[in-house]
Amino acid sequence: MFNIVIFGAPGSGKGTQSENLIKHYGLFHISTGDVLRSHIARGTELGKTAESYISKGSLIPDELMISILADILDNTPEARDGVIFDGFPRTIPQAQALNTMLAERGAKVDAVVGLQVDDEELITRLLKRGQDSGRSDDNLETINKRLEVYHSQTLPLQEFYQKQGDFLGIKGTGTVEEIFDRIKAAIKEKCGR
Ligand code: AMP
Repeated sequence: MFNIVIFGAPGSGKGTQSENLIKHYGLFHISTGDVLRSHIARGTELGKTAESYISKGSLIPDELMISILADILDNTPEARDGVIFDGFPRTIPQAQALNTMLAERGAKVDAVVGLQVDDEELITRLLKRGQDSGRSDDNLETINKRLEVYHSQTLPLQEFYQKQGDFLGIKGTGTVEEIFDRIKAAIKEKCGR
């Protein structure tokens, strides 16, 4: 298994660069945000619960999020060769759970791609996305809350993965191609592929 975590603030380009990673490495993509939005669109019970957190810019509770991810890993044969984890983990308990889940499958996180973009640029990008995304969380109030949550709950993961020796900090500004070239070079240096 070859597992990559794509990590960064909302609006840092995780979704866009995930598409490049999928094409380049042929890995299975799990975006927890997309999974939750699909439940909301289908009106499932989980979707109703998720919407109450997402619309406020808060995180879904760890226990629930971890069980959703475990369920996907257990029931998706395409995930056997490796996964791009996009939007997960977002907290230290989620990162610990991911280490355990992968270890149970004889695998590990191979690289964490950390897209680095300053808050001012993130807000500009998210407001622009909000004009056509239709996402309930791409408005200024919720964006500010999501950035606050990112700094307090998610950014500590950078140190967690630095200690693990897996964190690759990537400058997340420039063209999509330039950023992907930096990502490819960093993964190649760390993982040899
Ligand atoms: P995203 O599309 O990754 O920006 O996620 C949108 C929203 O979904 C987040 O603001 C959270 O409310 C929720 N969400 C997505 N992934 C997670 C996660 N790993 N843990 C908790 N909440 C999440």
